[in-house]
Amino acid sequence: MAGNAGHASEESAMPVTYRCAIASCHRRSVASCFECERFCCERHLSAVSLVTATSSIRVHVCPTCLYRYRADPEIQPLLTNVATRFLVD
Ligand SMILES: [Zn+2]
Ligand SMILES: [Zn+2]
Repeated sequence: MAGNAGHASEESAMPVTYRCAIASCHRRSVASCFECERFCCERHLSAVSLVTATSSIRVHVCPTCLYRYRADPEIQPLLTNVATRFLVD
């Protein structure tokens, strides 16, 4: 009965479930912040569109980074659209 010790299956359909990085929030995270890579739930991530010279990209950021984006005079003009909900497509 000692043959299988330490031979755990590595099968898992989902990656490890992270809690939202916001301390007061206990929701399950859905993605990580584009800037700081903290995992946040759909409530706390905002989908923002950043316009670059050639195209626009949509990223998800946590409240802290969204605040920084909005306060940053260089990033501010690049923010064309801020959705308060997490959007998946
Ligand atoms: Zn962040
Ligand atoms: Zn949250």
